[in-house]
Parts: sequence; C-alpha cells; structure tokens
Amino acid sequence: MSVASLPVEPFDLVIFGGTGDLAIRKLLPALYHRYIDGQIRPESRIVGVAREALDDNGYRAQVRAAVEAAVDHVVPATLDSFLTMVGYRPLDARKADGWDDFAAMLGAQPDHVRVFYLSTSPELFVDICERLGGYGLNGDNARVVLEKPIGRDLASANVINDAVGRFFTESQIYRIDHYLGKETVQNLLALRFGNALFEPLWNSAHIDHVQITVAETLGVGRRGSYYDRAGALRDMVQNHILQLLCMVAMEPPASLAPDAVRDEKLKVLRSLRPINDSNAAQFTVRGQYRAGAADGQGVPGYLEELGEKESRTETFVALKAEIGNWRWAGVPFYLRTGKRLPSRVSEIVVTFRALPHSIFDASSGPLLPNRLTVRLQPDEGVKLWLTIKHPGPGGLRLRHVPLDMTFASAFGVQQPDAYERLLLDVVRGNPTLFMRRDEVEAAWKWAGPILEAWEASGDTPKAYTAGTWGPSAAVALIERDGRNWTEDAP
Ligand code: NAP
Repeated sequence: MSVASLPVEPFDLVIFGGTGDLAIRKLLPALYHRYIDGQIRPESRIVGVAREALDDNGYRAQVRAAVEAAVDHVVPATLDSFLTMVGYRPLDARKADGWDDFAAMLGAQPDHVRVFYLSTSPELFVDICERLGGYGLNGDNARVVLEKPIGRDLASANVINDAVGRFFTESQIYRIDHYLGKETVQNLLALRFGNALFEPLWNSAHIDHVQITVAETLGVGRRGSYYDRAGALRDMVQNHILQLLCMVAMEPPASLAPDAVRDEKLKVLRSLRPINDSNAAQFTVRGQYRAGAADGQGVPGYLEELGEKESRTETFVALKAEIGNWRWAGVPFYLRTGKRLPSRVSEIVVTFRALPHSIFDASSGPLLPNRLTVRLQPDEGVKLWLTIKHPGPGGLRLRHVPLDMTFASAFGVQQPDAYERLLLDVVRGNPTLFMRRDEVEAAWKWAGPILEAWEASGDTPKAYTAGTWGPSAAVALIERDGRNWTEDAP
C-alpha cells in the first residue's frame, strides 16, 4: 500500500447541509473515492444533516445517485458497503428539536475523531457551533470545517471567527479553500522547494511578472442572488486567487509544518501594496457581462439572468497587484477572474525576464522569455517553456516549446479531487492547507479598501460581451506595461 493510501483512523463526519449542492456534487463523491482506495475504515460514520424530513435510507438513495452521477464505473457492491457507513439526521440548525438524539448518536462512539463540516450558509455557523458546544460535542477530538464565504468584509469575517472561536479553538477550525487541495498547487511547493533550478531565479532579478487567471464559461445561473451580494472580488480574488499568489510568492518555509507554511503566506498578504481610492482606477478593472455566446450558443447577460434592471456587481475583475518586499519589488502580479469568459481555465503563469543579449540572427526567429505555466484546470499540469533549436538541417532556427508535465499523461493516474485530500487532512488533524484566521483577516484588509474605493467612485462595471476576455480596459491594464495576457493552448 502506498503512503498516499494509508487508512486514516475511524471518524464521524457530520455534513451540515448534507443534501446541498456542495455535499452532493463534491463531498460525498470525494469520500467514496477515498473509501474505494482503502483510506476510510468501515467503522467510520458519515452523517448528513439538513431540515428535509429524510430517514437513513432516504438519504442513502440520494448519496447513491450522487456517487453514480459523479464517478465512472461504480462497482455496485462497493457502493453498497460505502452506504452502510452513511446515515442522516433531520435537524434545523435554528431549532432545538432532534439535537438530543443527534448528540446521543455521536456519543455512541466517543473515541472517534469528529469532523463537523459546515456546508451551509455562513449565517448558520454560529447556531450550529452553539448547539455543538451546548452538547459538549466540541472536545479535543472535534474539528469544524468552515466553507467560504467567511464574511463579506473584515468586520463580518471577525463576527464569524469570534463566534466560532467561542466554541472551538483555532487549532480545531479548518477554513477550507479547495484551491489549496489541488494537486498542481501542491506541486508548486514541490517544484519550488524540491528542485535546485527554480529558487535561485525566483525573484525580481529574474522574473518579469506573474499572471493568475481563474476563468469560467458559466454565468451566475441559480446562484444569482448570492452572487449579486458578492461579486468577483469577494467570490474569487479575496480567497482563491490570493491563496495562489501566496503559494507563488512566499519565502521558503522552514518545513511543511502547518504554521511554518501559514506564517510565510501571511507575510505575503501583509506585504501586498494597498489599493484604495488613490489608485484603484489605475490598478483595477471591473466588468459585467452582457448577452453574447458561450460554447457556441447565445446566452443572456448578467442582468437578464438576475432578473434585475440594474446591478453594480462585477462579474469580472482584473487587477495589478504588487508585493512590497525585497524578493518581489517591481514585479507585477496581474490577477483576473470572471464569468462568461471564452474558456474554463485556472492557471498561474510565471514569465521570466528577457535575455540581456541575443547571439542569434533575426532569421533564427524570435527569442521568447522562459515561462512556467501551472495549470489547475482543466488538464492539471505544469509546462516549462524553453527555447531549443528546431531539429534538422537548414540553419539555426529557434523554437519555443513546452517541457510538458501534464500529470495524467506523465504518471497515468487520475487526479484526485481537491476535496479528497482536504477532507482526510482534517481527519488527520493537518491544517497546513487550510487558512488560519490571521490570513483571512489580512486578505480582507487588502480587499476591503478596493471594494470601498469602487463604492465611493460611483462608477458602474464596464460591459463586456459574454464569451470574451472581459472589458477592453482589462487588456489595456497589462498592455500599458508593455505586456500581454497569456493564453496558451491547453
Ligand atoms: P445549498 O445547495 O443551498 O445547500 C444548503 C444546505 O443547507 C441544504 O442541505 C439545506 O437543506 C441545508 N440547510 C439550510 N438551512 C438549514 C437549517 N436551518 N438547518 C439545517 N440545514 C439547513 O448550498 P451549497 O451550494 O451546498 O453551499 C453550501 C455552502 O458552501 C455555502 O456557504 C456556499 O457558499 C459554500 N460553497 C459552495 C460551493 C458549491 O460548489 N456549491 C463551493 C464553495 C463553497 P434543507 O433546506 O433541507 O435544510
């Protein structure tokens, strides 16, 4: 058995919001994958909780359908045995009914690690934690997982963190950012700190700039009412994109110990140069999609999807961020994310500086800078773009080619979903890939003044046609600096 598939100790995992979209689409299929890989012992229990009046069998039918929808080639006998671990308790987080029975059920296995996954709206976090505390279910063997969004600004994040912190210590709280569970993000650690090649070049003397793109082709769909209160900066930049930026920019931690890594990420967040009313117009671009095309079909604009006449919520944002420290001074980090963009892609592109001098004739072709592309989705993998000689006779012609480390083809393995890794890290009690409270606060301290500057400006987001890369101002943001957004073929 490989190290990766060592079983974890038996646990009780309670998914509050067990019938919701996240649980059904992601969490339960992830648990099934870990089960068939032999990592989850059959004595473990997985308990869905929601208000819907279901019994164990009713919930198992939902879980069966969820796994069958998400997993290719399900073996019926294996799914049956997985389902014997699954149960359900109908509970309203805001009402007392049913909690006695729930606490008694958990009490039957007092030695199990207890994971409470709060896959509900954050408005319920406090009620749930209060009840768990009231029943003494928050002992040393308990952990609580908080889904995003943790607040909509620093003040509301503090309210949630303070309230959860009344019942769980910081070491029991796992703030999940599933981008950190992605294989390629962890590979960034391996590439940077497991090779002699990169770290000596990983600074402003050798790196020209960094781009981070998280692009979606979908519109807001049924999440419109949530999204309209959030927008792209809150939904994607404050959490996922800043976490990726930290993984690129942090100093080498002394070890992979949770606080060693998180201390370094925190220093990056605290070194971000402020963007506020004095410079938001220069360093940020907001957009909102209008009707256009996606996947070859006509699609409505944001306002039509929302069913509103007006909204100042951004569905696209591009930013030029800077990190004020010795390593990164003068290296721009261009960040962009949006809905209804031409392709679904999340990637980090590190572009090295141009060579100081070319020995080649113009007839050899252009000498392009080296580039490291770390792709999170689709086709997780890493490409290092190098210059080589075009093979064969006919003079010295240069070619820019990727050294391709696309993992599925290189290792012949299916990439595990980020939630598979993260769920078991919670059971193991390893918070390295989870956000500490001070990280969330530092991220809000940087993002908050941007939101305030937009609000104060009274401007509306610039329109862009669905199926394009955002408003033209986003192109101008980077072209002003003599650079371009990178769009490598997948
Ligand atoms: P959802 O589909 O709306 O599910 C909400 C769940 O909470 C349902 O199971 C619902 O069931 C339950 N619930 C609602 N009120 C309750 C109450 N008073 N007591 C107990 N249970 C209650 O939401 P979701 O998409 O799964 O998202 C859950 C959380 O994860 C949200 O905070 C979301 O922002 C976050 N998130 C979601 C995704 C995703 O891909 N979906 C990704 C990242 C983060 P009943 O109505 O039967 O009670």
